[in-house]
Amino acid sequence: MKNTLTIRITILSFLLLINVSFGQKLTKTEKKILKEVTANTTESIEFLKKAVNINSGTMNHTGVKKVGMVFKEAYDQIGFKTSWIDMAEVNRSGHLFAEINGNKGKKLLLIGHLDTVFEEDSPFQEFTMINDSIAHAPGGNDMKGGNVIMLYALKALFDKGLLNDVQIIVAYTGDEESSGKPISISRKDLVEAAKRSDIALGFETSTGFNNATVARRGSSGWKVQVTGKRAHSAGIFNKNVGAGAIFELSRILNEFYKEVRGEEYLTFNPGLILGGTQFSFEEALSKGSAFGKSNVVSQTAIVDGGLRFISEEQKENAREKMRTIVANNLPHTSAKISFIDSYPAMGPTEGNSKLLKVLNQVSLDLGQGGVKAYDPGRRGAADVSFVAEYVDCLDGLGTMGSGAHTPKETVNLNTIEDLTKRTAILIYRLINQ
Ligand SMILES: [Zn+2]
Repeated sequence: MKNTLTIRITILSFLLLINVSFGQKLTKTEKKILKEVTANTTESIEFLKKAVNINSGTMNHTGVKKVGMVFKEAYDQIGFKTSWIDMAEVNRSGHLFAEINGNKGKKLLLIGHLDTVFEEDSPFQEFTMINDSIAHAPGGNDMKGGNVIMLYALKALFDKGLLNDVQIIVAYTGDEESSGKPISISRKDLVEAAKRSDIALGFETSTGFNNATVARRGSSGWKVQVTGKRAHSAGIFNKNVGAGAIFELSRILNEFYKEVRGEEYLTFNPGLILGGTQFSFEEALSKGSAFGKSNVVSQTAIVDGGLRFISEEQKENAREKMRTIVANNLPHTSAKISFIDSYPAMGPTEGNSKLLKVLNQVSLDLGQGGVKAYDPGRRGAADVSFVAEYVDCLDGLGTMGSGAHTPKETVNLNTIEDLTKRTAILIYRLINQ
């Protein structure tokens, strides 16, 4: 008993010490912001629950818009001008944008998305508590939690009258998990918003208090198609028949592996291969079938793959090497390679690092520990990548949890208050820079 009491007192004085030493770095106004965030935390979790319980699988256009309208109403209440941008043109629901205008400080773009990977026919539909801090929630972590953090950080600033004369654009896309094509239409409004901003903050799932994303790899697709000379297999390798399509495609892949592989952050993966006398390939479904015989030299072959890169330069270099390899054909074969852009890279720029420093200081001042750059090799692509060439970016500012994109997805509700505080102070400092 006595021991427990001593420990308690020690912990208490330690906590007080932390509070004093870190608290000193926060201004009076900042402390008021924190109080406001705390006061709204229960409400924010209720809001999250409400948003999660509306199915918004990317292709459930009505559901995505419904979630959008829940957020729209909340932004209307804190003085933002809101608009729903219909995306029927690209067979997607639409985007919610909310904006306030002014001239003070940095102009911010905050990015979230309304859709999830769980469509209407998924068995995973409901927000349920696992224990008193963790909720099992479809899209709760990726990324309705992040959407709520954005809203409640801004609400705290609005409630304290701190959003006067600043420009903040909030963009919630409705198709992040499967973006409408072409990108030039589905991401037009996001890119235009970025062109009017200085800084973009992304609220995709956080990888812990001590990490933020300053770089994300981009992704693209590639496809190699090979033609050979169909003949009796007895003639393979001779002057008139040559190597056949399958040997040629094997050569190409082997040289990709030997010659293109190796640079940091550059990866490429052949995901599907077909070859023989003939094949059929249903690209949209990523499946196909092939016919061929061991006594017939193969006439045709195809491989479909993906490529991830940290900069446009790295992407172009890799493509150039691949093109050279593809052009160097074995006898009586020909090959061609094609590329398709998906996500651009968000490179680790100096501007992004400066932004990370600001967040790091906020986090230290809040007693949440320092924040370091997360390894870009371990994160997928996201909407923030589309604006990275126009503004300084930071991502991974959303909620914590586990199992995103799986029926086991959880969101940690205990961390929402602290993450919202961190966001509110970060925004406050940026709009006063
Ligand atoms: Zn996401």
